Amino acid sequence: MIHPDTEVRRVDDVVGVGVFATAFIPRGTLTWALDPLDQLLTPERLAPLGPQWDAWLDHHTYHDPAGNRVLCWDAGRSMNHSCRPTCGGSDLGFEVALVDIHPGEQLTNDYGTLHLEASEGFTCRCGAVECRGVVAPDGSAWQRWLPELRDALASMTTVPQPLAPLVTPAVLRAGRRAVGLPATERRRRLHAV
Ligand SMILES: [Zn+2]
Repeated sequence: MIHPDTEVRRVDDVVGVGVFATAFIPRGTLTWALDPLDQLLTPERLAPLGPQWDAWLDHHTYHDPAGNRVLCWDAGRSMNHSCRPTCGGSDLGFEVALVDIHPGEQLTNDYGTLHLEASEGFTCRCGAVECRGVVAPDGSAWQRWLPELRDALASMTTVPQPLAPLVTPAVLRAGRRAVGLPATERRRRLHAV
């Protein structure tokens, strides 16, 4: 579930829509949490679907570290990529604001951290000074945001958390412990919760 102080707005004809803050969201705020209404699409569920679904799935779902696709039921699926994201941490089952997000600013994440398949790379026009130009499968993407993610997690107890009821203390503890681990180990730890 996406943070309640957000709304979907049109960005432009190329990008389509994005998720924008409607109130101040401080660093360390849970901006999204996996919830029971989100659809976990396992490889077994996807196998019977034909290739006509591939583009739709690439556009509307992301990959979790266990190899499933996740279809967010709400505006979470409209979050755009940025090479300088305002949110991060999706592998943990929740995302946090990596920076203070002001009203009118967009909630974004680094798609390079979302276990892209080779066919899902794209030319980026995020406009960030740090823009990589092309976003492709990138095993180092998670490491890129580790300092910001650690700082944001350390700030969690000092800011309002409207999504806190969706993240159990066990998930939060497991996420904090797994954040600095390689993807395979993150997957093992988080699935043990
Ligand atoms: Zn970019």
